[in-house]
Amino acid sequence: MIAAPATKSTGKPSQKRATPQKPNRKGLRLCVSCRGYFTPTQLLKVKNDAIIQGPSAVLFNTNPIKAPLGGGRSAYCCRTQQCLQQALGRKHLQRALKTPLPDATLQSLHEILDALSMA
Ligand SMILES: [Zn+2]
Repeated sequence: MIAAPATKSTGKPSQKRATPQKPNRKGLRLCVSCRGYFTPTQLLKVKNDAIIQGPSAVLFNTNPIKAPLGGGRSAYCCRTQQCLQQALGRKHLQRALKTPLPDATLQSLHEILDALSMA
């Protein structure tokens, strides 16, 4: 005869899955220029057909219907003159996205860079 456990189940989790104090890079994104990890809100998100600033604000999307060549791949870059200039000059973004960027996207990135250098 098998005795069922009579103890009341309190539903207390014996183990927590994630330890918040552990320094990990979860949720952080890599800047393609300085290779530093930052929260996505600090970074400029570049998809191969769009540039997205902030957590969800889409600056523009040149081709929202057709799936991008890189399969929805996105890359991140610091919103600083230094990082953006390097990303554009050394084609870090193209390498990260594994696809050339459309002219419109490059143009917009240069516009953002110009705005940063004027600030
Ligand atoms: Zn950076």
